[in-house]
Amino acid sequence: MKIRDILKESRKPFPSLEIVPPMKGITNSQLIESVKPFMEFSPRYINVTCHRDEYEFRAEKNGTFSRHLVRNKVSEVAVCSAIMSAYDIDVVPHVICGGATADQIDNKLSDLKFLGIENIMALRGDCIVGEKRFVPEEGGYRYASELVEAICAFENGGDFFSIGVGGYPEKHFEAPNIETDIENLKKKVDAGADYIITQMFFDNKVFYDYVGRCRAAGIEVPVIPGLKPLTTARQVSLLPESFSIDIPLELTSEIRAAGDDREAVYRIGTDWCITQCKDLLAHGVPAVHFYTMGKAGNIVRILRECF
Ligand code: FAD
Repeated sequence: MKIRDILKESRKPFPSLEIVPPMKGITNSQLIESVKPFMEFSPRYINVTCHRDEYEFRAEKNGTFSRHLVRNKVSEVAVCSAIMSAYDIDVVPHVICGGATADQIDNKLSDLKFLGIENIMALRGDCIVGEKRFVPEEGGYRYASELVEAICAFENGGDFFSIGVGGYPEKHFEAPNIETDIENLKKKVDAGADYIITQMFFDNKVFYDYVGRCRAAGIEVPVIPGLKPLTTARQVSLLPESFSIDIPLELTSEIRAAGDDREAVYRIGTDWCITQCKDLLAHGVPAVHFYTMGKAGNIVRILRECF
């Protein structure tokens, strides 16, 4: 079923779950076992992230260097296919502009259509190691809005895919200001995106302000909040660095006070997420998206308490 129809028809908010493809070497049944705990909550769909191929240069005996494709993870299409075969559930593979030409993306869309996958999360993707700014592939797309246009135009503009896009309550780190970022978000919606899933945030006020700004800018599609429970003390510095987000003083103080007690930190992160989730549900959000990182323990507790 298309996510846009699920969003239209659903009478109560539902959990939306995102997993990261596992490292190569895992078996199909291990993957299926890893998502099994989520099935207790009858999720409507599972998002599967997409990771850009990287290349490494290896020295040859003759003094030259050869370029080798390095792919450490199982592909998102393989993971989606395995989940669909094991469970009666929709999947949402992420498709990124990075590292792909328009033709390669069209071929991926063909594969997804062949598998009966009618949902896509369309993203630009991040820079690769060593790049300061995102560099599109020659003959590829520079912005997610161009990818959304291409998905909508696929096979002569059929209506096959329902498309989600990313939004940044604390602004995308490259955007000069939140207003410009929201103008750019609107381009994705105008190009055909059906809904927005936000970057993680730890202060709900930031999300409510963001939705208000989106509405004022004429963006009317559902905005699904993205949550990630903190699990380690290190994330207090890592997450702001990696995702350009703030972590409220109250949360960082609690975590600091827990010191080396890892269990306490994990509990604080989970409890904070439960409070956030309950408040979002009370404010009438259509769904709550969880960045699970493939780890079920804390997410299962949050879902049991909130849904
Ligand atoms: P865009 O919407 O293209 O925006 C990128 C920047 O360009 C922004 O600053 C925007 O303001 C600006 N911009 C957009 N259009 C224009 C324009 N026409 N002119 C000038 N500036 C413009 N990354 C992955 O690699 N794999 C994943 O699976 C993945 N999943 C994600 C899931 C979610 C829910 C979110 C929120 C992010 C995810 N990301 C993923 C990260 C994402 O790829 C990065 O944040 C990336 O840097 C931006 O992607 P985007 O699709 O938001 O880009």
